[in-house]
Amino acid sequence: MQLTVISGKGGTGKTTIAVALAELEKNTGKVDCDVDAPNLYLYYDGRDMLREEFSGGMKVSVDTSLCTECGLCQSICQFEAIHDGKVNTLYCEGCGACVLICPSKALSLVEEKTAEVILTDTSSGVLTQARMEIGSEGSGKLITVLRKKAQGYAGDDLMIIDGSPGIGCPVIASITATDTVLIVTEPTQSGVEDLQRIVLLCQQFGVKTFVCTNKADINEEIARQIENYCLTNGLCFVGRIPYDDTVLQSINELIPIIYYSGSKANQAIREAWKRIKRQLFVSENKEERKQ
Ligand code: SF4
Ligand code: SF4
Repeated sequence: MQLTVISGKGGTGKTTIAVALAELEKNTGKVDCDVDAPNLYLYYDGRDMLREEFSGGMKVSVDTSLCTECGLCQSICQFEAIHDGKVNTLYCEGCGACVLICPSKALSLVEEKTAEVILTDTSSGVLTQARMEIGSEGSGKLITVLRKKAQGYAGDDLMIIDGSPGIGCPVIASITATDTVLIVTEPTQSGVEDLQRIVLLCQQFGVKTFVCTNKADINEEIARQIENYCLTNGLCFVGRIPYDDTVLQSINELIPIIYYSGSKANQAIREAWKRIKRQLFVSENKEERKQ
């Protein structure tokens, strides 16, 4: 079973909660799909089982022996990526316009390594992540590759996916074919709007959706609004996680919050996880009875 933890934007506590859930269920596969800002790996030591190059795009390459320095490529490039027959790969979008216009066939598009896919065997399950090359961006294709690699090791066991923030292509790839999504929101006006956008996305994909509010006590009124919104939209609200300084301590010490016994956030996350499991268990039993 795959559970993807997502949020409308970064900084809502998504990773804190994903790590906590992964630790509550031992030997869980973990996938860091927040490829532009991965940080799940900070919590885990282990042995790398696989390191593989990922090519996520094309860049232009110049054969200087054929170039006559006519300047046509420079004039057509909309991204100012080519000057005096030299390519700045950080600017090149791989559109291929210069390749088509070059009269000397001196230009060609070549695949460029944009990331490294890494699978690490940790003491509590396999962690799958990507390390982006400088100047490269995460893509839905990379996230799909990460999830497929992780699936090979997790099999039917629980897999916790730390999803990409936002509502773009990476988050779509994070939730496609996942069994369940947990949306982490926060009680601010922008948090409510982000939540509504991401709920629409989940509904389009027909994925079972849970919602929890992090730092819920910083604005009780909006926290209530979020719960009402969940109620009227048939979403399963699984809990309020209070603001807790221990979370900052946990992030600084790189120890999952569930290991701080006096933490209010720890207790609330444990309760939320129990509710999620109860719901999933009920759904699975219903499915089994139907078969
Ligand atoms: S268009 Fe081709 S030949 Fe002309 S400058 Fe560019 S690479 Fe060189
Ligand atoms: S492939 Fe496109 S973006 Fe890259 S140098 Fe050529 S024209 Fe510019």
